[in-house]
Amino acid sequence: MFSKILIANRGEIALRILRACRELGIPTVAVHSTADSDAMHVRLADEAVCIGPPASRDSYLNVAAILSAATITGADAIHPGYGFLSENADFAETVEAHGLTFIGPTADHIRMMGDKITAKTTMRALGVPLVPGSDGALENLEQARAVADRVGYPVLIKAAAGGGGRGMKVAATADDLEEAWSVARTEARAAFGNDEVYLEKYLDRPRHIELQIMADTHGNVVHFGERDCSLQRRHQKLLEEAGSPALDAKQRDEIGEIATSALKKLGYRNAGTLEFLYQDGQFCFIEMNTRLQVEHPVTEMVCDVDLVREQIRIAAGEPLGYDQKDIHFSGHAIECRINAEDPRTFMPTPGTISVFHPPGGLGVRVDSALYAGYRVPPYYDSMIAKLIVRAPTRLEAIQRMRRALDEFVIEGVKTVIPLHLKILDDPQFRSGDYTIHWLEKFVAALNAE
Ligand code: ADP
Repeated sequence: MFSKILIANRGEIALRILRACRELGIPTVAVHSTADSDAMHVRLADEAVCIGPPASRDSYLNVAAILSAATITGADAIHPGYGFLSENADFAETVEAHGLTFIGPTADHIRMMGDKITAKTTMRALGVPLVPGSDGALENLEQARAVADRVGYPVLIKAAAGGGGRGMKVAATADDLEEAWSVARTEARAAFGNDEVYLEKYLDRPRHIELQIMADTHGNVVHFGERDCSLQRRHQKLLEEAGSPALDAKQRDEIGEIATSALKKLGYRNAGTLEFLYQDGQFCFIEMNTRLQVEHPVTEMVCDVDLVREQIRIAAGEPLGYDQKDIHFSGHAIECRINAEDPRTFMPTPGTISVFHPPGGLGVRVDSALYAGYRVPPYYDSMIAKLIVRAPTRLEAIQRMRRALDEFVIEGVKTVIPLHLKILDDPQFRSGDYTIHWLEKFVAALNAE
């Protein structure tokens, strides 16, 4: 096992990883920017190293500073969390070249899945069903037109290097294709420095269902079931559930079998998530995330597993020690992402937290690095807390989440808690019958009131 782990992240996820390390008896090193000197992960870690000024590119993305911090403190492994360097293959490679362990997949697998075109081609070869679309990168508009005619409009032009919902444009009809093509490419070039694009049929009423995989270095691969992340605004997830209201155990087993056998053939290791769009009983792979996900706690709650602990054990070379048949799903879990944003305009609202009173009670979990007096810096992501509940049934989980949100007091900054309460009270959400397009319409209707 590792003698010391450096956590290359901040906020709630740095704290989350720190907690897993503590329970494993592993000392931790926090790294932080000058804007985060007072952050909770810095206070709680065994050691802390300042790695640069507030801007992420100078601190949390500063590979040289992070590696120096690891060397100075004698850490032998690095956990990247999510975001920042977590899906940077060069970083994973550099960490290993310095004789440290990167807690995650191999650099080759990160690179393979980071290019969505390669990811899709690889998954198709491994027997995973895809969204109908182009076979690879599109070379020109004529090619795009030919594929769009074959799969039928509406279509989506997507960036090969895409992420965070950027570089994605819909063409409703053939007349819109040229504009979608050029806007998607311009956006992709600006955001990712790579204007390679591909085309997919635009599904009009899918759910976003993703599968949590864990693989050790001894050839064992298991899945921890699905998460339904259909509640999205601008392709950003806001509320997630495990399991999906749309799946039964048989469908879960079927997609789980396809996904685990694909990753076994690939020789994948550590945590990974296969994302699918699900419509008319069909799963269509869209991308794979080669890291821990923000929404991993809902899986932890229904499977009673510590996924970060599993990541660390696997990185240290330990076998999983259990099979698929040992993984059981119990009850229903929901996560609400609490962002420091105006609940109507979604404008970030950085500022000082004057009062912080998290909810508690049976089946309630709060993952947050907030405390009263903490100043939410304007430089980073606006998510300040995750509220997660588990209950025997979906309806009870909704009631519990409602109760917990009512108890949650965060003063000093505006948050999206009022929006979550409205979602939880909505009859259609409660029925479980919603798609990835539902939330945008719901928000538009609220704002029109
Ligand atoms: P990113 O990496 O930018 O998050 P994804 O490929 O994961 O991009 O897609 C993000 C979201 O965009 C999906 O969860 C879904 O809501 C929507 N989306 C992606 N592909 C399609 C498609 N073919 N049809 C309809 N919606 C899509």
